[in-house]
Amino acid sequence: MRKSFFVISLDFELHWGRFDKVSARGQELYYARAREAVPRLLDLFSEFDLSVTWATVGMLLAENREEWRTYHPSIQPLFNSETYSAYRWYERNTTPDSLLFAPDLAKRIASYPKQEIGCHTHSHFYTREAGACNESFRADLQAAKCIVTEKLGLKMRSLVFPRNQYSPETIRIAGEEGFDFLRTNPEDWYWRDPHDNQLAKRLFRTGDSMVPLGRKTSYPLDKMRFDSGPLKVPASRFFRPFQPKVPWINHMKLQRIMQEMSLAAHLGEVYHLWWHPHNHGHYLEETLVEVRKVLNHYLQLHEQYGMESMSMNGFGALV
Ligand SMILES: [Zn+2]
Repeated sequence: MRKSFFVISLDFELHWGRFDKVSARGQELYYARAREAVPRLLDLFSEFDLSVTWATVGMLLAENREEWRTYHPSIQPLFNSETYSAYRWYERNTTPDSLLFAPDLAKRIASYPKQEIGCHTHSHFYTREAGACNESFRADLQAAKCIVTEKLGLKMRSLVFPRNQYSPETIRIAGEEGFDFLRTNPEDWYWRDPHDNQLAKRLFRTGDSMVPLGRKTSYPLDKMRFDSGPLKVPASRFFRPFQPKVPWINHMKLQRIMQEMSLAAHLGEVYHLWWHPHNHGHYLEETLVEVRKVLNHYLQLHEQYGMESMSMNGFGALV
């Protein structure tokens, strides 16, 4: 029987992942819970013996604003709209450190033997927004590698593109900068070019999280190759946040994820679930109960079909 794999990647970013979308004002409690989620998730992953990739924004590893400035890349992006520049945004705002910096948590993640620190760029860099150029993207990756090497003594090998925006050019640059494993989007039309943010695509992505609208989300190992360069580790599904007012949505979402995992285990395929630690910020206990249900299901599939947990960089030896 072909082996099946369960992959989890988490985009660890705090407010660096949302500065262009949501005001930081009044978000202290949300991020306090998001921070609390990290050790709780690490304990859960240990309990279920899981290897997980934590794709971390480089800036998050600074201690404070002063240190943040010392890790600036040689070239900053010049987006046509300044809204997308983390540098411009933070220089104009007095956002509390607790919403932005978490070197302690990154060190804690790195101290767990089965957890992988991956890269989510240095500045939550949007490679498909107008004005982004190859030189500033390369400089951004180099800044991320620099802070991770200095703070954690690690070499990163996996990359998750912010907002899942990438192109053949940015994939090539990522490969040249030493990233051997990239998270890519599912193949359905409503995941193509997610930066254009069309309503129909958003509706299909939401609908498909409850009932099957698209293709099968798991895939065989041999689908992971690009023609050349890094390996792609396509996402299967985004683990959507808990909805307190519509319990049936949470139920359907969990059912859908578990059915997809079962199918992957049965067919000997890869299933890749992703979310953000800050998605635990509103309903920490409820969301951790949901994660535990998914992990219990994984354990059953592990026992029944030999499904294995794998971080993104774990595929190096297999593909
Ligand atoms: Zn992100």
